Amino acid sequence: MPDTMPLARTAATTDAPAPALSVVVPCYNEQEVLPEFHRRLAAVMNATGLAWEVVYVNDGSRDATLAGMLALQAADPHVALVNLSRNFGKEIALTAGLDHCRATDAVIAIDADLQDPPEVIPELIAAWREGFDIAYAQRSARHGESWLKRSTAHAFYRLMQRVGGRVQLPKDTGDFRLMSRRSLDALLQLREQHRFMKGLFAWVGFPAKAVLYERAPRAAGTTKWNWWKLWNLSLEGITSFTVGPLKAATYLGILVAIIAAIYLVVLLARTVLFGNPVAGYPSLMATMLFLGGVQMMMLGIIGEYLGRIFNETKGRPLYIVERYVRGG
Ligand code: UDP
Ligand code: MG
Repeated sequence: MPDTMPLARTAATTDAPAPALSVVVPCYNEQEVLPEFHRRLAAVMNATGLAWEVVYVNDGSRDATLAGMLALQAADPHVALVNLSRNFGKEIALTAGLDHCRATDAVIAIDADLQDPPEVIPELIAAWREGFDIAYAQRSARHGESWLKRSTAHAFYRLMQRVGGRVQLPKDTGDFRLMSRRSLDALLQLREQHRFMKGLFAWVGFPAKAVLYERAPRAAGTTKWNWWKLWNLSLEGITSFTVGPLKAATYLGILVAIIAAIYLVVLLARTVLFGNPVAGYPSLMATMLFLGGVQMMMLGIIGEYLGRIFNETKGRPLYIVERYVRGG
């Protein structure tokens, strides 16, 4: 197990009994929603009748999120918090929370912005009690998101289903889910730097069940996603899932070679039959530019993979913890 683990291990071996359920919440600049989120979460969790904790991960927020978490921690012994040394991004913040959760039975990952309603958690727990290792919340409707965002998300999930091969991404599913302890332990063995969590969850496998819910609009604050970030997340998803784009170069090459061969025959025939009127500057230019473009694109694709190999080989820890405060 890599060296980011010891904190979680020490947390698990200290005296107080470990809770049955942990809820992990990555937070970046969520000061406005945090109190309301905790109120709703606590109401739901207390009603389950199980021992629980919530692990808030402060992902280097620039507002008063940490102060808010410390206040919650002082008021409610269910609260644990992990403060990262800077902003590491949602996927890693979530991983940090999962590393530090003490749950013996199951863990729930949820966003802080109330887009994932905590009220769905009892249904996730019910699915888990039926014997499923993973209960993932699947969006039946997305409110407060533009048509463009919905349709691009749709296209992305379809694409991933086609390239996924053996590992299938469930559609319209985010990180909001419940995982049994054994599936969590399996997930925590995957320590890659480029963490496309939806893909990692899917890779782990285990019996899973979808629980439908309606995705609410953000309660307060603003989304941290913009189009550029979403594009990069899609790249992350594709490159960590499949080497298909690398193979594309081979087939594109074959295709171009075949077309070139046919064109060569046509040119030869024309020259033999009609002599050689020097023509073809436009077609020469077009072919050159086209092939140049294709080659650059293919180099770029190789670069995407190479860059990721570079990042992985450094073998750095995924994140640095500034402080971990355990629940009571
Ligand atoms: N988040 C995070 N680190 C980041 C960006 C986001 O921990 O760098 C958290 C954020 O606080 C929220 C969750 O990840 O709890 C989802 O973020 P957001 O709502 O911005 O994404 P969206 O719902 O639009 O996909
Ligand atoms: Mg959100």
